[in-house]
Amino acid sequence: MGNSPEVYFAKDLAGGAEIFRLMTPPARLAIFGDPVAKSASPFIQNAALVETGHPYQYVRIHVPGADLSNALAMLPGAGFLGCNLTMPHKQAAIPMMHSISKEAGLMGAINTVSIREGKLEGFNTDGPGFSAAIREEFGVPLSALRVLILGGAGGAGRAITIQCALEKCPSITIANRTLEKGASLAEEVEKQMGSKVSAIPWDPSHLAKALGSTDLIVNATPLGMKEGDPSPLPDDLLGKDHLVYDTVYNGGTTALITQARNTKARNATGLSMLLHQGAKAFEIWFNEPAPLEVMREALKKIAG
Ligand code: NAP
Repeated sequence: MGNSPEVYFAKDLAGGAEIFRLMTPPARLAIFGDPVAKSASPFIQNAALVETGHPYQYVRIHVPGADLSNALAMLPGAGFLGCNLTMPHKQAAIPMMHSISKEAGLMGAINTVSIREGKLEGFNTDGPGFSAAIREEFGVPLSALRVLILGGAGGAGRAITIQCALEKCPSITIANRTLEKGASLAEEVEKQMGSKVSAIPWDPSHLAKALGSTDLIVNATPLGMKEGDPSPLPDDLLGKDHLVYDTVYNGGTTALITQARNTKARNATGLSMLLHQGAKAFEIWFNEPAPLEVMREALKKIAG
């Protein structure tokens, strides 16, 4: 159910969405993305739907940017309860919502849409999912940690930076390849949330200095997604007391995770963030606890 690599299209939502209504069980949830064929979300969400007895399924829908507005507008008429959004839609969808949560507004992105009384409500579960993953992986609350976010001004990086500010982490530093973007986010967070964020240039000497007063290092760049990608950190900068979280999940080991292992620093990949953002989306749609362990098992099966 929904776990085949099958991909549907925005046009399938038109005219009463017969194709989704006639499925057994009917599709009532989806992920919109471009590309979307490799999304792991159907595995975890369909496992959760079966476990909780909701008679629906979750499907992948290939939605290019130009079709997003139409596809979202057709969702309520197609009988859907909501959807997830992945690249490249998380920012673009904001003006297409009837309302968004305060956190999604601060993060400037939504990854979860819930349909209530025919209206589209936008949420961001990447930030809270990251926080839950850190507590689970390292046994400490995010709020206790001094955090350095590599790629802190990108999409995922921004959600993580805002989550750190919401939880009042004792220090938040972002290193972004394009320094201006990091500096502008730092200024925005300070103005809107009153939290101090330092933006540093992406170079070895600034990174080395920042690491001296960092507990948790987060990779929010895509480095590690492709085989052979270098680590975002130069060698020899990590210490054994650092906690290393790589948001990348590629089914294998990234160069950053290898560096952490070689240094004996505790480390984790982005699979736990993926799991918890999905669980939080499920809770938004159904207003009941997500069956986390069942979702975790489903993810383990595909992650190998
Ligand atoms: P994005 O919006 O394109 O942001 C990418 C960030 O990485 C930007 O800050 C960019 O810097 C920086 N960057 C890109 N290439 C770089 C390079 N070669 N060297 C240094 N910095 C580089 O991408 P995104 O959607 O946030 O995704 C980023 C990562 O987060 C991906 O690996 C994705 O898999 C992961 N992610 C994981 C989860 C999860 O649940 N685990 C959820 C969402 C995303 P500039 O500003 O200079 O361009």
